[in-house]
Amino acid sequence: MGLLRYNPARTPFTNVSVLMPTHKYLAHYPPNLLTQVESMIEAGRLKTYLTERYPRPHTIANDSDLRDYVMAIKNQHLKTSPPLSKIMYDSKLHVVHSALGLHSYATRIQGQKLKTKNELRVSTVFKKTPEAFLNMIVVHELAHLREKEHNKAFYRLCQNMLPAYHQLELDTRLFLIQTEREGSFYE
Ligand SMILES: [Zn+2]
Repeated sequence: MGLLRYNPARTPFTNVSVLMPTHKYLAHYPPNLLTQVESMIEAGRLKTYLTERYPRPHTIANDSDLRDYVMAIKNQHLKTSPPLSKIMYDSKLHVVHSALGLHSYATRIQGQKLKTKNELRVSTVFKKTPEAFLNMIVVHELAHLREKEHNKAFYRLCQNMLPAYHQLELDTRLFLIQTEREGSFYE
């Protein structure tokens, strides 16, 4: 099987009401893609699909490295966007909590003013992934500094920062399915 491709411009989102349990990660993808993924899983080929394309994990091992990594991307693409008060790996974050929405916006009262602080938290699941997947998650979260909703402008921004964004989001979701089934293979 070749590369699983997903092009939102050509393939409209379809709601699939009956999903295999593992496909909670793919709830908004078209049914034909779900069928393809299902047959890959049945044939035991999902791990190979992933490891052939993404053989190595990244080495961004701690919060300090993560901060450098995130700020490099932010400074390149979103210099004028609001600052990030905190950048960290978070072991309490569930990866599928609101799909890929791993961002948190903390509102704190400082004096008389209500201030919103932007925090960028990445689930620790992404400590042991290829750099491409971490890149995708970080781009997704940074795009939320400008667009809170998952709308067209949001995905345009993601693609500007990372042209392969849609492919990488799909492949990241496949990785999460594989990890849930058999554990991570980038240890
Ligand atoms: Zn999001």
